[in-house]
Amino acid sequence: MEHSKIWLSSPHIGSKEQTYVNEAFQTNWIAPLGPHVNQFELDLSFYANENYVAALNSGTSAIHLALILLDVKAGDDIFCQSLTFSATANPIKYVGANPVFIDSEMDSWNMDPKLLKNALLKSREKGKLPKAIIPVHLYGMPAKMNEICKIANEFSVPVIEDAAEAIGSKIGDKYCGGIGDLGVFSFNGNKIITTSGGGALTSANISFIEKAKFLATQARDPAPHYQHSFIGYNYRLSNVLAGIGRGQLEVLPERINSRRENYEKYISFFNEWNNKGFDFKFQCGFPSAYSNRWLTAILINPENNKGLNSEKIRLHLDKFNIESRPIWKPMHLQPIFSDCEFYVNGTSEKLFNEGICLPSGSNLTTREYNRIFSALNELINQY
Ligand SMILES: *Cc1c(COP(=O)(O)O)cnc(C)c1O
Repeated sequence: MEHSKIWLSSPHIGSKEQTYVNEAFQTNWIAPLGPHVNQFELDLSFYANENYVAALNSGTSAIHLALILLDVKAGDDIFCQSLTFSATANPIKYVGANPVFIDSEMDSWNMDPKLLKNALLKSREKGKLPKAIIPVHLYGMPAKMNEICKIANEFSVPVIEDAAEAIGSKIGDKYCGGIGDLGVFSFNGNKIITTSGGGALTSANISFIEKAKFLATQARDPAPHYQHSFIGYNYRLSNVLAGIGRGQLEVLPERINSRRENYEKYISFFNEWNNKGFDFKFQCGFPSAYSNRWLTAILINPENNKGLNSEKIRLHLDKFNIESRPIWKPMHLQPIFSDCEFYVNGTSEKLFNEGICLPSGSNLTTREYNRIFSALNELINQY
């Protein structure tokens, strides 16, 4: 027991998921369509400011379809937040477009609106504006969407909001994932709620969502035989998995509470050390931002922490079978994107060098917390 693995973020099933899945079996709706898919889309729309929703088989396919809906073609430029998981940027390559990476700012750790504006001005000078801008709400923390959308509007460039990590997060009273022209959710296994694998695309524009559903089901023209005028995809969500999603959405508010409590626990733990001369820093956000706190991450600058750094913490926790992970390695530093353009200010590289994500599951027990904190104390005490 003592040595069972503590994961960064593990699935946490509620009480209704099994019932909905059984219902799918009993009614023989074992297909990428059906009543759970329809209801899941309606339920999700609450978390997208009443936008229309297409339930899909992953967040990655949602981003891919978003680019297709915006008519992105080979050779087009797409501005993409550099500090993110590669799944934000990969679909840009699927359509043959060029990612141009934009660095972060320190409040939210997300796309820097000032840098975005500079990049847009430069690209207008060159006579080639991007076809879309993709900001990300990293670890659930909202990006500065009000500023980003205002700037994007000035240049008439649409915004695809990657809210894969941020369902339930808000800016003021607006839910993340329903603010940009198109929004993306993910329900992969380690996200705050999961369907084991799944995603969704949202938009206030119903024609985008109708077209997304059409393209996601192999783009069949309305004809009795199979006829196709567009290239289609097999991207719809299974009715069985939508059943899991319905159950998970019912417990989302509880999951957000638990994740936010995790963050508070880590803050008070590290603040005690800060009172003793250390300088651990957190992802603080900005006044109107409400984060679901999917993952709690801290920053450790070794110069202000007696030589302690994030990698020493990771290796030490690993000895106790506790998983932690460096902050995402920025896309502009990834081998696969080394030929891409970028606009940087040093922030994402600093966050990558100093940051570590700590176990943040909504099902962490007091016993597991004690293991995490005593392991951390043992290490920090040596400094
Ligand atoms: C998880 C994730 C995705 C991809 O979602 P999948 O459902 O795993 O395809 C995209 N962007 C970000 C920021 C993510 O964390």
